[in-house]
Amino acid sequence: MVLVVETTQNLIEIRQNEKASIAFVPTMGNLHQGHLSLLREALTKFEVVYFSIFVNPKQFGPKEDFNRYPRTLVDDLNLIKSLDAEFTTKKIIVFAPKNPEEIYPPGFNHSISVLGDVSNILEGSIRHGHFDGVATVVHRLFELIKPQEAYFGLKDYQQFLVIKHMVKDLALPIIITGMPIIREDSGLALSSRNQYLSSEERTEALTLSKTIWRIEKIINRKKENLPKAQEEIINILKDEKWNYLEIRDADTLNQDLSQSKRVTLLAVYQLRSTRLLDNLQVTIS
Ligand code: AMP
Repeated sequence: MVLVVETTQNLIEIRQNEKASIAFVPTMGNLHQGHLSLLREALTKFEVVYFSIFVNPKQFGPKEDFNRYPRTLVDDLNLIKSLDAEFTTKKIIVFAPKNPEEIYPPGFNHSISVLGDVSNILEGSIRHGHFDGVATVVHRLFELIKPQEAYFGLKDYQQFLVIKHMVKDLALPIIITGMPIIREDSGLALSSRNQYLSSEERTEALTLSKTIWRIEKIINRKKENLPKAQEEIINILKDEKWNYLEIRDADTLNQDLSQSKRVTLLAVYQLRSTRLLDNLQVTIS
């Protein structure tokens, strides 16, 4: 069963009457198989899954694509219903606020500030305030929905770590689960922003996944190969389309890898104004 809820008041009432344990999947809509993989996993484990569709103004900078971000609620609901047909005994509550005031009522003046390195580097250093906006909306949705478990894509790896830190620091009783990146057959990670690309740019975008897989091969799970990989990265970065391509500790995002057991390769490749994110994790010994 799929129930669509458009107001916070309605959401609170429905949630208050919910006895079962609850999973939650937050999204900004324009759904694709990446989003659905999170919903599928949640439905496999839980009787009731709350699924939010909200383009959160607080996580976009003034020059970013908030206004043109694709809003496709009718198509999104059809995709969710197609999954509902696979899970006939389960309940999906789609929270699609009809306007931003449902989330941030007039006079709302609270914000979560994410302090520390994980939020100020990489995406955080390019998109100032982005992770504060993400943490603020996720925290607000957590408060309203009170899930036992919430699902995030590893596609946004730094975001996943920021949310894990928030839950730990604020002692929120919520399990945060990261789900693998879903890709096209070509290797391109699915993203709502892929539709901004021309067909030539789509081909060019494959540089991103191909490159991180090449670096993964150089590392070959061995710590002693990291310097060779770093050297190769210096060469690759001569192409100015890279916003960054870095190897960091997979848990702390530190640059010092001397104690690391797992590293992450984090990359953003930019085609015109479209920033494409990708990453992978490698266990090293
Ligand atoms: P978004 O709507 O882009 O904010 O994404 C909502 C959730 O879906 C986030 O947790 C994303 O990391 C996740 N997600 C987006 N794209 C993918 C993908 N290709 N594979 C897996 N998860 C994804």
